[in-house]
Amino acid sequence: MKAWPAELRCSHACMWVNDSTAMGLALDQARQAIALGEIPVGAVVIDAQGQVLGAGHNRTIIDHDPTAHAEIVALRAAAKNMENYRLPGLHLYVTLEPCVMCMGALMHARLAQVVFGAADPKTGACGSVLDISTYRQLNHHTQVRGGVMANACGALLSSFFRERRAQARAQRDQSKR
Ligand SMILES: [Zn+2]
Repeated sequence: MKAWPAELRCSHACMWVNDSTAMGLALDQARQAIALGEIPVGAVVIDAQGQVLGAGHNRTIIDHDPTAHAEIVALRAAAKNMENYRLPGLHLYVTLEPCVMCMGALMHARLAQVVFGAADPKTGACGSVLDISTYRQLNHHTQVRGGVMANACGALLSSFFRERRAQARAQRDQSKR
């Protein structure tokens, strides 16, 4: 996992951004996904006044949509709200390190900052598997920070998968009887 300097803050001087408040809102979204049987990842897009402009959680299964990751859902809602396909000055908080698809979309939107919670050693595109946030050939760089409330974000995912494995085991045992 890449080491994220604690002092790194948004270069747009948005010092109001309260990490725990914003990530708390993303976690609320992630919890909503559990009831739907979706992997609990949540995201919010907030502006320089701290107003939530878009929020979402994973919806890939219920929407039959491989692109319906939390970040994309929140990004689409924010872009609609702003009536703009570019979102400069806005911040996205997400509970899990974004994948390649999401980082691509977030960079296209020209967000000021992306903040994630837990690292994703399987598909993370902000330093875990690869790091496209610092890829020099890409012409726009969104500032990225990771590890914010990583334990709470990771615990939600771990307990979800633990529960799912237990259910699968119980079903297997039942079918053997
Ligand atoms: Zn993604």
